[in-house]
Amino acid sequence: MVEYDYLKSRVRSYAAAHGLTYQQAQQRLRDDTTIYKVRATGQPPVEYVISTEMAAFLSGEGLHGMGPSDRESLNSQLIQLPPVYECGTCGEPGDAHDDATTIRAVIAAYEPDLNPVTWVQDLSRHHARCAPPRLVWKQLIALTSGAQRVCVTGGTHRDIEAACDLTLRPLVMATMFDDQLRSAEPVLLVTAEVVDDHGLGTVYWLNQLEHQWWRPDGFADHPSRGYAANWSIRVEEAGRDGIASPWIAIRYGTDHAGDPLPLCAAALDIPAPWLGLLRGRKELLVLVGPITVAGEAESIPPDLTPRQIGAMLKHGSLVAADAPLIKVA
Ligand SMILES: [Zn+2]
Repeated sequence: MVEYDYLKSRVRSYAAAHGLTYQQAQQRLRDDTTIYKVRATGQPPVEYVISTEMAAFLSGEGLHGMGPSDRESLNSQLIQLPPVYECGTCGEPGDAHDDATTIRAVIAAYEPDLNPVTWVQDLSRHHARCAPPRLVWKQLIALTSGAQRVCVTGGTHRDIEAACDLTLRPLVMATMFDDQLRSAEPVLLVTAEVVDDHGLGTVYWLNQLEHQWWRPDGFADHPSRGYAANWSIRVEEAGRDGIASPWIAIRYGTDHAGDPLPLCAAALDIPAPWLGLLRGRKELLVLVGPITVAGEAESIPPDLTPRQIGAMLKHGSLVAADAPLIKVA
């Protein structure tokens, strides 16, 4: 299950303040209701009965991936609802001007990589006599295997965005950065393929990726290797949150609220030796490309051998950086 740390800490502090057990505090927070008054300009106010838990949600608690104005708009969703509704329980008409009305909401729960934006999946209204208010967190997982679509903007063509597919490949390679060391090193190879070049050519868009993303983020040419501090790589084995496949997510900086910005996440077969080599590591070597060399881009076939990858790195067709690793369990 997804853990809602903010919710747990809220329940814990409520329990401590009122001398209750965790379960009692949780129940109390669900049962405690408040009257939430909303008034559209020039209209009489309407009143909704909501739980303390939901009041906290409406005031912004536990919201992720939203700008401040989106938080406002969540609140104003209630104002914009027409006061007359059909009760979600009995199906009879209701009017929030006159009838005590409860709100039930299903919220798509935050998951930093698989559902980075909290959103209201369903909002229903009920007569208070028919149903108590309720807030339900629902885990929605968006995870696919194979190439992951991202969009890159043009340099001098800021209004144009090109779709690119990123493919993630976990590989074990002999250490390439120190000729004295021949130990095996786990590597994540990230290759980009331009899907729609808008007539500007593949090379143009690969250059945008190189100069907007890879190099500013710390990726460097062989024989040095950079450090991509704004990146982090999350590796999850199968089974967690009921997801049947292992998966890897790349994060890329943080938003205004400090939440990680997901670049992509993919379900994929992760070789057991690769996972084994990850244990105890704080960083992972990431290779990205293709980088254009002398105005040309090498294509990267899916069955590229580690030796060929090493050659591409030395040739300048790939750049490298260590990225912080979010540990596997
Ligand atoms: Zn009803």
